[in-house]
Amino acid sequence: MLLLILLVPAILLGQTKIESIEEIQLKTIQPGTVSQFWLHLTDDGMSQPVYVPVIIAKGKTTEPVLGLTAAIHGNELNGIRIIQRVFEELDLETLEGTIIGIPGLNTISIPNHERRFIDEEDLNRNFPGKENGNRSQQYVYQINKKILSQLDYLIDMHTASFGRTNTLYVRADMENDATKTMALLQDADIILNNKGVPSADEKIAATHTMRAEAMLQGIPAITIEYGDPQVYQTDMIERGKIGVENVLSWLKMTPQKITPVGDQVICKKSYWIFLDKGGYLEVPVELNQLVKKGELIGRLRNPFGDIIQDYYCPEDGIVIGRSSNPVNMSGGRIIHLGILNN
Ligand SMILES: [Zn+2]
Repeated sequence: MLLLILLVPAILLGQTKIESIEEIQLKTIQPGTVSQFWLHLTDDGMSQPVYVPVIIAKGKTTEPVLGLTAAIHGNELNGIRIIQRVFEELDLETLEGTIIGIPGLNTISIPNHERRFIDEEDLNRNFPGKENGNRSQQYVYQINKKILSQLDYLIDMHTASFGRTNTLYVRADMENDATKTMALLQDADIILNNKGVPSADEKIAATHTMRAEAMLQGIPAITIEYGDPQVYQTDMIERGKIGVENVLSWLKMTPQKITPVGDQVICKKSYWIFLDKGGYLEVPVELNQLVKKGELIGRLRNPFGDIIQDYYCPEDGIVIGRSSNPVNMSGGRIIHLGILNN
């Protein structure tokens, strides 16, 4: 009784002691439970362990294992809340298989409001990492060894980067049946057909994304971009949650019916259009807008307000992302243009 009295206020404050672990051992977790852990990846300069938060829901069976990862870029936060929401709404009684959620992979950079890792590297360009490599290589190596190795499927959650805004769009290999289905189940505006895996001759030198590493290991993986950096967007979070729940239904991990989603625009490729001069940029097109070849997409002014340059769309397409920060030097981005499948 005394224990209960002591425990209740602690639970209410969210201050229950979270167990620290060196590795994820799914076999030792009780079926029908949700567990929270701090998973040790590397150490910091104060000799303290660097942990990532891990939430594991284990149903009646261990498999399949769906991984949900967010914020490998430390300023991309919507996915953190999506993962938390998925676990909040989960019915453990009917769950089959296991969900491993990592609501915040880049735990060094998230509290510093930074995208990149402490050594200025992009963690998501450094897979598979190196056991005895530099700081980001070792961190990535441990993500690969301790997290990816546990998964049968992966949804990796991102947003736009600083100074830009994004639609809700999916990057997926649409020639792979599993990743195609996972993509079509998302409440997404756009699906970008993108293998993501380095080609045979690139492979020798290539470091690559977590999605590519997963695909190379035979783990069907999609990347989803949910809107804007360094914010929680309620609509993006709810749409993201629906997409994850649809994948759970498709994998027969939950008995829920699949929630119908709107038609996504499917693009066969995409690219950014860059400025060749510097100044103050206006972007007169909106996210998800269909744009025509020759349409005005950017107007650059000098500090006195004179137009230095107008930029026009090089071909028909759709606006996947756009600059939201007017201040740009040469090489700044205007729009991320998606080219539709026919
Ligand atoms: Zn990202």
